[in-house]
Amino acid sequence: MDVELITIGDELLTGHTVNTNAAFVAEKLTGLGLNVKYISTTGDSLEIMEEAFHLALKRAQVIITTGGLGPTDDDNTKKAIVKVFKRNLIFHEEILEDMKNRYAQRGITMPAINQNQALLPQGAKFFPNKNGSAVGICISEEGRTFISLPGVPREMQQIMEDEVLPYLKNLNLGHNLKITKLRTTGVVESKLADMLQAELKLENGVKLAYLPAYSGVDLRIIAESGTKDEVQQKARDLERFLESVVGKYIYGKDDDTLEGVVGQLLKDNDRTVAVAESCTGGQLGMIITSVPGASNYFLGGVLSYSNEAKIKQLAVDEAIVAEHGAVSEECAVAMATGCRQRFESDYALAITGISGPDGGTDEKPVGTTYIGLASVHATYARKFNFGTSREANRARACYAALELLRREILDIK
Ligand code: ATP
Ligand code: MG
Repeated sequence: MDVELITIGDELLTGHTVNTNAAFVAEKLTGLGLNVKYISTTGDSLEIMEEAFHLALKRAQVIITTGGLGPTDDDNTKKAIVKVFKRNLIFHEEILEDMKNRYAQRGITMPAINQNQALLPQGAKFFPNKNGSAVGICISEEGRTFISLPGVPREMQQIMEDEVLPYLKNLNLGHNLKITKLRTTGVVESKLADMLQAELKLENGVKLAYLPAYSGVDLRIIAESGTKDEVQQKARDLERFLESVVGKYIYGKDDDTLEGVVGQLLKDNDRTVAVAESCTGGQLGMIITSVPGASNYFLGGVLSYSNEAKIKQLAVDEAIVAEHGAVSEECAVAMATGCRQRFESDYALAITGISGPDGGTDEKPVGTTYIGLASVHATYARKFNFGTSREANRARACYAALELLRREILDIK
């Protein structure tokens, strides 16, 4: 079953908007076992949209479009559907009522222009939109399923998750497929491959991919070909094998995040953490607090960028900075210790390093980073040599700090 995605909007062609809808929809459909064969993009022109729809109907069985469903003059998607499918527009009272209620709740009268949002091509099914006024439109004809969704990512995503995916799943168009992602951190891709290589035997229809990011390397298992039970079993077998060999680097699965996993550990153990950040400038605090409920375990942080801030705010001994420098094991330990005392937390993490591009020396090249950890049991720092990119160095340092804490809590050596 071949799928074509058509993302619509002038701003996608000019590069003013990054086409995140294409990636989102493609990933979801791939997960259903559908084969996304084409992703095309058109501007808002009615003629070009028509051309794209005709072509897609020739070469794909499932077509999903995003964008151009709004009520304004530049929104042409519905007009193109009407022309391509040769259907009249039918008024849907329930859609209008729903829209009026939504506006009433916000205390505004619905602008008249929105009325045309209640018009749908004859015979089309519609998918309600919880976050906006443009409903999703679905037309089935001659073995083709044509679905149009609004372009606003939040609206499109809600309709995809709540309506389109269950609908397509029900049609049973995809092949059996199981995708699992094991999330590792603190180890590079090549080392993982090295460790796995000797004993790795992939069964027929099973693929393993290494997906590196700043937070770590994901091991993605794709099992296909076979019955539903067979693909599940094959995926599980490989998962068990990976866990047996590189388990100590695996912090989670699928949608887990390192910050979420560490947060849960702190919460479960009734522990708190505080941070002292130099080169990461608050990024670690931002990552930790991106998890809802972080207030249960995160007490706060000191953004001690300058030497004076380290000395005054974290009680780092001036002599340590003078003797070893701010980027040193001694300083990282002192920062963590001072931070833990200041916040009276169970754990404290400290980061000090040279992010670059300037400031490196032969002895301490760009990327040299010390991460300190203080707890009731132990206080220590580890040295990392990341790389030359400022952005990567800062992000990697944050995840390395979180991993240090995860290992401390779980007592993984
Ligand atoms: P509206 O009712 O807001 O007009 P619409 O369905 O007509 O909705 P568009 O006008 O095409 O949607 O786009 C609305 C917003 O969503 C714009 O800010 C646009 O940049 C963004 N958007 C549209 N398509 C995409 C896409 N493929 N990826 C990311 N953002 C997108
Ligand atoms: Mg629009």
